[in-house]
Amino acid sequence: MVLADRSVCTGCGACMQACPKQAIRMEEDREGFPTPAISQELCVECGLCQKVCPAIQMPQTRPVSAAYAAQILDREVLKDSTSGGLFTAFSREIFKRGGVCYGCAWDQEYHALVCKAENEEEIKPMRGSKYVWSWAGDTFPEIKSYLEEGRPVLFTGLPCQLAGLRKYLRKDYDNFFSLCFFCGGSPSPFAFHEYLKTLTKKVPLDQLKFNARDKEKYGVGVHITYQTPKGKACDTYLGNAFYYSFYTKVVNRRSCYQCPYRYEHRVEDLTMGDYWGVRQFHDEFDIKAGVSALLVNTEKGRELLDSVRDQLQLSPTEIANIAKANNLTLGEQKKIYPIPAFRDDFFEVLHRKGWKAAERKYLLDKSRLMVLILEKTPPRYRKTLRRMISIVRRKGRNG
Ligand SMILES: Cc1cc2nc3c(=O)[nH]c(=O)nc-3n(C[C@H](O)[C@H](O)[C@H](O)COP(=O)(O)OP(=O)(O)OC[C@H]3O[C@@H](n4cnc5c(N)ncnc54)[C@H](O)[C@@H]3O)c2cc1C
Repeated sequence: MVLADRSVCTGCGACMQACPKQAIRMEEDREGFPTPAISQELCVECGLCQKVCPAIQMPQTRPVSAAYAAQILDREVLKDSTSGGLFTAFSREIFKRGGVCYGCAWDQEYHALVCKAENEEEIKPMRGSKYVWSWAGDTFPEIKSYLEEGRPVLFTGLPCQLAGLRKYLRKDYDNFFSLCFFCGGSPSPFAFHEYLKTLTKKVPLDQLKFNARDKEKYGVGVHITYQTPKGKACDTYLGNAFYYSFYTKVVNRRSCYQCPYRYEHRVEDLTMGDYWGVRQFHDEFDIKAGVSALLVNTEKGRELLDSVRDQLQLSPTEIANIAKANNLTLGEQKKIYPIPAFRDDFFEVLHRKGWKAAERKYLLDKSRLMVLILEKTPPRYRKTLRRMISIVRRKGRNG
């Protein structure tokens, strides 16, 4: 049996979980992404692995029917959530109905894993974006058995994971709800761990408290925090080397460059994301605290949203306004992100010499360098330095 090509495989694991002969195992590639490998001696050519593979045939998608700006009213939850805290609002409703929720949490070694929660306490570690490819493990059969029992299930995660799960389930259950986000790509777990090694030289992993979207000091935005011997460090998205590699799409899974899930036809019932640029369109929110964009794509999604309205501040919005600043492409045109020409070399250097060497060679372009210099400058000199930089830039432009 031939599985999907590595360039389009998202690593959802549907093939492995569906195989009746356990002939498929997931093997980590050099970039740390699990990829299926088939043992031809065990394979009975039943073809199930191909049937459930979303990279061979995508599950049915649905057009967006409504768009909102949204924020959870619970301020404590909002503080710990990446943007508007929608994930918690929907999870609460599922628990009220006696259901289970699946989301992504770190394990003790900072592997991003899809896991199950049966109450509000258990969803706490799922809050917050982990900007790393996450492993759905063998959750699909478990989800199927809950659905067969009649328990409501909410799956939140990457759209490509959900696509694998939907293909694995092979039917649309009334008690199955899905909530995915606009996804800018999922970075390499190997690269992330190489980066973490630069931090754990000074602070042990179990005390690192790495947070890719800490709102505590500056509110919503991308502020990456972690412990250092001198206290809590706070990087900006350009300043933080790992986030920068994600932002510039250097370390994403290969399938992300031609991702078919970033369009206005969606695989999930509900879509959430950061509502970047919300200030231009909605001044009724406390924007600094984080506002989500929310898309409703199915009747089930609409029904779930109606039942959590009392937990949310909600304003109808235009999908075009959301798309302006987000990973959501409108219209028919398909978009392929170019794979950075140095991507393979980046991983090569990472393997041979570690994160710092790869960062120095490939992630220090001029604009990031400027930001790094500015961030290292004491606040009282920053204004002068900014002025000097702009004079130098202007002179450069004028020849
Ligand atoms: C890899 C990645 C890329 C993203 N790219 C974009 C983007 O380009 N534009 C945008 O608007 N939003 C993006 N998001 C989503 C955004 O960061 C927020 O997660 C979203 O706005 C929801 O915020 P919230 O406050 O409602 O949820 P929170 O309460 O913060 O909950 C986070 C939710 O995301 C899930 N989650 C976190 N990390 C992962 C992971 N690695 N894999 C699977 N599920 C995970 C959790 O299970 C939970 O359901 C991305 C998220 C991730 C993880």
